[in-house]
Amino acid sequence: SVVAVLVLGGLRLSLSPAVYRPRIRYFMVGILLPWMAYVLYLLRLTPNRMDLTPVSLCLATPFWFLSLYRHRLLDLRPIAREMVFSSIPQGILVLNPEGYLEDFNEGAIRLFPDLTPDCLGLPVAELVPEILPEPLLHMAGGSSALAGEGRDVMHQGRFLKVQVTSLHRGRSFLGTLLLIGDNTQTVHLLEELQKTAMTDPLTGVFNRRQLFQILQREVERFDRYQAPLSLILMDLDHFKRINDRHGHPCGDAALRHVVGILRQESRQTDVLGRYGGEEFVVVLPHTPLEQAVRVAERMRSALAGTPLIWEEGQVWLTASMGVGALQGKAPRALEAWLREVDQALYQAKALGRNRVVEVASGRA
Ligand code: GH3
Ligand code: MG
Ligand code: MG
Repeated sequence: SVVAVLVLGGLRLSLSPAVYRPRIRYFMVGILLPWMAYVLYLLRLTPNRMDLTPVSLCLATPFWFLSLYRHRLLDLRPIAREMVFSSIPQGILVLNPEGYLEDFNEGAIRLFPDLTPDCLGLPVAELVPEILPEPLLHMAGGSSALAGEGRDVMHQGRFLKVQVTSLHRGRSFLGTLLLIGDNTQTVHLLEELQKTAMTDPLTGVFNRRQLFQILQREVERFDRYQAPLSLILMDLDHFKRINDRHGHPCGDAALRHVVGILRQESRQTDVLGRYGGEEFVVVLPHTPLEQAVRVAERMRSALAGTPLIWEEGQVWLTASMGVGALQGKAPRALEAWLREVDQALYQAKALGRNRVVEVASGRA
């Protein structure tokens, strides 16, 4: 057995990582010392044929202690893993193959405050129904990383990203690990960013860039379905005067005032946009020309009849408008169509402002 300890210990020593080697050496010395004392005793090589085994056991004890002390190195890994498990910001749910909750971390409690140790052993489908992916329970034996990108899940107004990993040992399915991140802030930031990129900061309506995108899409839709599509292009009359007389802040307030009135006079499906400085566009899907002209007329008269209240005085505003429509079966390029409507607007200006001119007839 001394030879066996030497051979197996030596083998173990050479195969083990460097951190564990001192521990193995101490362990081997601790075992070999009593054995060697016993062998010496059996071979009658000890002075006065004394049995030194008890003495050697005393001598071996410190080596066992050292070995055990070094053994604590092994404790590090579970502790580190436990710390990562509990301190990781994402929520982790561990499910057994039947979908019952086996374990969860602090991150999961932050996401689902109702989770308590009492929930262990309960079906996750009942605890947090939105989280449990439907195919989960049927995937025993499936791949180990099921949904690489994760799936988006709404939970009480929060945007969660759930990554599902099935746990296997060999070919047996042990359960499922759900890694759940909270993307709410990122989603809100992205939404805000998107909104900022699309809208005019002064008035809150679509900016020119977005307007063109919407118009392009609507024209393509017209090409396809031939549902009438109308467009009102307007330019405020003598707007320079407003800035000159009342100052730029009043001009800005006037632009917001105009948008307020346009909003009041348009339908939910109409699209409002700021085309330029004091130029606005209304896109009216599913609206033929006559109807769009009526809307434009309503907007014009509402504008002309509703002054802006500025520093306890009234500022009167009017706008000239051009109206055009795509209808029937005549597709037109967006640029050409816009030019036509712009010409109608120019005519409205030329005819004395504060009026609506439609493209088709060129009549006021
Ligand atoms: P017209 O009836 O011929 O359109 O006369 P107008 O004075 O409106 O002439 P024009 O359309 O050429 O002038 C636009 C003016 O609108 C110029 C600019 O001072 C003003 N403007 C453009 N953008 C803004 C803005 O964001 N805020 C303010 N306060 N004024 C603006
Ligand atoms: Mg202008
Ligand atoms: Mg103008």
